[in-house]
Amino acid sequence: MIYENWLHIDLLNTQTDFCPPLRGKISCDVLVIGGGFAGLHAALRLAESGKDVVLLERSICGGSSSGKSGGFLTPATESDLSQLIGLFGIEEAKKIYSIPIQGINLIVDTIKKYNLNCDLQKQDALYVAISKRDIEILKEEADALKKLGFSYTFYDTKKLKSVHPGKGYHAGLRSGNSYGINSLVYSQKLKNVLLKKGIRVYEGTEVHKIEKNTAKTHLGSCKANNIIVCIDKMTNEFDADTSKKYYHIQSFLAVSEPLSKSEIKSIFPEEKMMMGWDTRHVYIHYRIMGDDRLVVGGGSALTYYYPRHYNSPWVINKVIKDFKRHFPFLEHVKFPYYWNGLIDVTKDLIPIADYDPKNKSIQYVLGCAGLPFAAFCGDYAARRITDKNAEDYSKYFSINRKFFISENLQQFLGKPLAFFLSHLRALNP
Ligand SMILES: Cc1cc2nc3c(=O)[nH]c(=O)nc-3n(C[C@H](O)[C@H](O)[C@H](O)COP(=O)(O)OP(=O)(O)OC[C@H]3O[C@@H](n4cnc5c(N)ncnc54)[C@H](O)[C@@H]3O)c2cc1C
Repeated sequence: MIYENWLHIDLLNTQTDFCPPLRGKISCDVLVIGGGFAGLHAALRLAESGKDVVLLERSICGGSSSGKSGGFLTPATESDLSQLIGLFGIEEAKKIYSIPIQGINLIVDTIKKYNLNCDLQKQDALYVAISKRDIEILKEEADALKKLGFSYTFYDTKKLKSVHPGKGYHAGLRSGNSYGINSLVYSQKLKNVLLKKGIRVYEGTEVHKIEKNTAKTHLGSCKANNIIVCIDKMTNEFDADTSKKYYHIQSFLAVSEPLSKSEIKSIFPEEKMMMGWDTRHVYIHYRIMGDDRLVVGGGSALTYYYPRHYNSPWVINKVIKDFKRHFPFLEHVKFPYYWNGLIDVTKDLIPIADYDPKNKSIQYVLGCAGLPFAAFCGDYAARRITDKNAEDYSKYFSINRKFFISENLQQFLGKPLAFFLSHLRALNP
């Protein structure tokens, strides 16, 4: 088992030219900083509206979380719908829950519109109960989905066996409108679309600071009328106040050798689905990719809030062991590659997408937990520039919203504990 992002290896099958770093002083109408799903979708919307856009990316487009992800596009968010209802009430929860659905539609429509070959797999998503007691959690979620008019199928223990016969699964909730993609290939192909539209993209270009409306990089600078900041792990040097507002959770992935048809059938006898969530706080998830490899993801309570990348294989080995406990006949399956990544999150697990309180020509899109949220929020920030009548989500995405743990208390507790406690509260309203 080697520590290597398998999506990087797969990218070698794709014709991709990397963009050189920015050298010298340039200017544009809108500058997008960060080339993950949020930044790429912001740039796409702006390009489609005919704006003069520059995109600056520290690594390669998709080089951070977006291109390390398992590519599960599911409407469910880190919070269950029932938890969102507990926090925000029915009407608001419906609106928030519909955001990742719009994000998925945006990604899938983009794939179809620009013919992006990125291993798009239409697969319904399962959410399973891993103990008899947890069946109630799924029933509560099914009730919430029904109340708000979202479609789903509920499987009791017996019925679940026919679609997903893993040992120790006690009930399942199945939802549609979910897909798998290769998120790194998607990022790079979307970059190529932007280049064709005349967007100037610079990779290997880290912005250290924004002074007035000029972003300073190591070899140059870019002045813009509007700036959308979609970066992860913001440093204090970049902006000490804003960097306090988000942190990360750590997740791990492993990719297997290609499975045989009968091995795949033993996991999903009727049709391929994805196991998107289970009822644990640190859940495991898996899906079959286009070349019949299994991608398995998960984490550990010990490393979930760990401040730095933790590369040891023991966490993913535990996740694989857990998967094999449910499917003992797949004990022999080998997972040659594993990697980890830090997913940016806010304290209530809802992203920040808002104007800089001190400079309205700068917007931040931060802490997007999930590809659909990121795509939606990047697109939303761009629409706030291109369309003065864009629907307003500032109520949910405000940068100055109050959290259960204040920034003063966070200073005393430290980020890992402050975010852990805030998430406990968000998930147990
Ligand atoms: C291991 C792992 C598995 C995941 N699996 C899934 C999944 O299956 N499904 C799902 O929906 N989500 C998944 N996620 C979460 C998802 O990847 C993220 O929520 C999403 O990609 C966030 O997108 P983003 O554009 O907001 O941020 P990022 O993708 O982090 O993009 C930010 C970009 O900004 C760049 N940047 C940072 N600082 C600077 C700077 N100063 N100057 C210029 N550029 C800068 C970075 O290099 C990066 O490319 C996973 C994440 C990880 C780590």
